[in-house]
Amino acid sequence: MKRIVALGGGESGVGAAVLAKVKGFDIFLSDNSSLTSEAKATLEKYGIPYEEGGHSREKILNADEIIKSPGIPDTAPVVSEAIQAGIPVISEIEFAGRYDNAKKICITGSNGKTTTTSLIYFMLRNAGLNVGLGGNIGKSYAYQVATEQHDIYVLELSSFQLDGMYDFKADIAIILNITPDHLDRYGHNMQNYIKAKFRITRNMSEQDCFIFCDDDNVTVGHIKEIVLRAKMLPFSQTHEVKEGAFTDGGRITVRYEGSECVVHTDELSLRGRHNIYNSMAAAITGKIMNITNDVIRRSLATFENIEHRLENVMSVGGVLYINDSKATNVNSTWYALECMDRPVVWIAGGTDKGNDYSEIEPLVREKVKALVCLGKDNRKLHESFSPLLSTIVDAGSASEAVRKAAALAEDGDVVLLSPCCASFDLFKNYEDRGRQFKEAVRQL
Ligand code: ADP
Repeated sequence: MKRIVALGGGESGVGAAVLAKVKGFDIFLSDNSSLTSEAKATLEKYGIPYEEGGHSREKILNADEIIKSPGIPDTAPVVSEAIQAGIPVISEIEFAGRYDNAKKICITGSNGKTTTTSLIYFMLRNAGLNVGLGGNIGKSYAYQVATEQHDIYVLELSSFQLDGMYDFKADIAIILNITPDHLDRYGHNMQNYIKAKFRITRNMSEQDCFIFCDDDNVTVGHIKEIVLRAKMLPFSQTHEVKEGAFTDGGRITVRYEGSECVVHTDELSLRGRHNIYNSMAAAITGKIMNITNDVIRRSLATFENIEHRLENVMSVGGVLYINDSKATNVNSTWYALECMDRPVVWIAGGTDKGNDYSEIEPLVREKVKALVCLGKDNRKLHESFSPLLSTIVDAGSASEAVRKAAALAEDGDVVLLSPCCASFDLFKNYEDRGRQFKEAVRQL
């Protein structure tokens, strides 16, 4: 019997183990740290042997194939030993794709993945289709393939998941944008990161569709260097396209195979220029899936944004507080600042991933009146922004940041948490940071 080992017992690892068990493999799961009680309960329910708090080589290096969680880098000792031993290392998505005949709509990009994936899922559900949602979001894809039956899957794919994908094929692939992120995992080489993102187009044929941003120089530059057989569907906010989507004044026009759908940008429920891109990508997908213009328009107009993405928390004393904790890189904060139309007291900082702030300097100069640094080490923020801003203060917790921001803000201002950075120095994760921010606002 073929032996499969799942490395990592998070959502994706446990899902992959369940699928492997259901498909009759000799499966073993190993996690370096401790498993949640929920994960253990699932593994026990399916009779899957596992270990936690370390990796026993004798139970791992005898595998025929290893399914690695996206959080574990290739440089982890157990992974490099497996690679050296010639054991194929794949991702949960690659594994689950082997057992799934559903149509697969796959979304990647540096920013906007969760928003766009959720929006497409919402639209397909509104059209009455039997669709599952997975990848980097919600229940794992593998677990659903093992236990549910869907005609279509909408999958959010991170570059780490794409790294472990070989034979998987998307029917519709979307690359929203490519800006520097996670370069620490790609040898500080942007080209490696770009190639990882483009793995989403592997194995696609003329019947498949590739949706991409025609305004993104990195994406467009890479397309010119490779051979892609899929049908190309660009979207743009600067020029008309024959097929795909573009804006013209306040209108989005979507074109696919001779049919057109027009949506007014002021009808979109999601605000900001970045969300026009996300909405265009979703609308093109809708047209490909043969969804009526009416359902496409209604979905774009009624979709409710997910937590921690430019989320309006509340107004206190005429000051609006906005939680954009998920902005963990410079580009996502660029879009947040871009759509602010009131003076901004900006809360930023955290774990720096090698940020280059020059991209946002013009917007900071134009819109920001004061900066509250929320991180353990705020030196880089001070160095970058003291030539631009006269007021920069430090805070060591969400509540201190909110209190200081409130003191600096006046009636009509916005207090925006959009950190440009990861959260791990002071918080468990970006959700924890966003929730603590919102709680502090409510306390004001
Ligand atoms: P991801 O899943 O790729 O991290 P999210 O949808 O969770 O993306 O959004 C992450 C952050 O990026 C949020 O701050 C959001 O406002 C911003 N954002 C969303 N879509 C885009 C986009 N198309 N371009 C740039 N920033 C975006």
